Amino acid sequence: MTTFDKAKTMGYAQLVEKIQAASLVEYGLCPEPLMDKIFRATAKEGDVYVYAGLNNADVDCALLDLLREKPEKVLAGIEIAGFLAGAAAKFLYLPEEEKELTEQLRSAASAHNVILVNDIINVREAEKDLILHIATACDLAELVDDEYTAGVYVKTAEKPLAKVAPDTPVSELVSLDDAKAVYMGYQYYTPEEAKELTAKDATTALICVLTEKNCIVAETAKILGKYRIRSCGRCVFCREGLIQLEYMQKEITAARGKTQQLDLTREIGEPMRSQTLCTVGQKSPDIALSAVNKFGSEFEAHIKKNKCPAGVCGAFVHIYIDPQTCTGCEECVDVCPADCIEGKAKFIHMIDEFECTKCGKCIEACEEEAIIMTAGKLPKLPNRLIKVGKFKKH
Ligand code: SF4
Ligand code: SF4
Ligand code: SF4
Repeated sequence: MTTFDKAKTMGYAQLVEKIQAASLVEYGLCPEPLMDKIFRATAKEGDVYVYAGLNNADVDCALLDLLREKPEKVLAGIEIAGFLAGAAAKFLYLPEEEKELTEQLRSAASAHNVILVNDIINVREAEKDLILHIATACDLAELVDDEYTAGVYVKTAEKPLAKVAPDTPVSELVSLDDAKAVYMGYQYYTPEEAKELTAKDATTALICVLTEKNCIVAETAKILGKYRIRSCGRCVFCREGLIQLEYMQKEITAARGKTQQLDLTREIGEPMRSQTLCTVGQKSPDIALSAVNKFGSEFEAHIKKNKCPAGVCGAFVHIYIDPQTCTGCEECVDVCPADCIEGKAKFIHMIDEFECTKCGKCIEACEEEAIIMTAGKLPKLPNRLIKVGKFKKH
């Protein structure tokens, strides 16, 4: 018997009782007893629809692993929720970029009468219907199958997605020993703050530890870029705000940052939270605001000291060939995609820094370890081809 058949056999009243006894709550950013949500949707005039998906603002997408690992459970949960709400149709929303996963789910979704859509949920249109997190759908199906355990999902660099007790300290889930920052639940935390957090604060499931090797500014620019792509553009503050926030972070990583951009980030980010319709606009500024408010010294290093402390931002990094170590073997010339290494056999090679994209391929190719990446000053280097062994330091 399928999970959905079991739910139907159980009947509406028994199912409601079971959900309420288990205190099943909507997952993610809008926690609320599941049955309250369903009752509210059924009170609506006209047809009711089920819109299942991640929270719109969830660009980490760690919880999509539920659809990869137990698609039958999630789809059965959507079907059961539809049964309880008397839904005219059920939709499963997947991020635009997840076309492959969408195709993998197509036949199973059709068997459960679930329509797949690659988009974010239009919360204004769906506000009177049943918006359902896919993790709630999974919980619901597991409850019907008597496999449900209360808890929250967590995914880290070391461990795949798994349910843990909500009060599990973050320090037990990831090592904070080398942490510079912890990214979870839409924002950055300092290691001191992270020590006070628990698994329930990881609303997207992902917990990511950033060390001295990670640049907060570059990471923020990357995450804001994902939000910008996710934004549907209906709200001016979300559409324009994300363009501006991402642009400023990128300018700072490209050595074109200005101190005023920190205040501007705050001026744009704060109103975005209240002037937007869905969680994309409401939660996305948190990453930029937590970055500038908690890791201001990292921004100042980029803007005022012309330095990326992590040595990640290409604009602040130099790559050069150590004239004392280069043997003139020519190996690096062949791997350079920018064709910017000059040299010939037995001559000290030179990199044209203006053309170099800092891809690092030549570093890997040089067996002599003569190619150096540094965030510091460049030493004296040859300005013309010189035979190996003939370059004088002074
Ligand atoms: S906040 Fe507004 S513009 Fe941004 S994704 Fe949501 S509805 Fe679209
Ligand atoms: S691979 Fe290394 S040693 Fe060989 S020419 Fe290039 S820099 Fe010099
Ligand atoms: S870092 Fe990349 S682009 Fe620059 S010199 Fe090396 S191989 Fe060429």
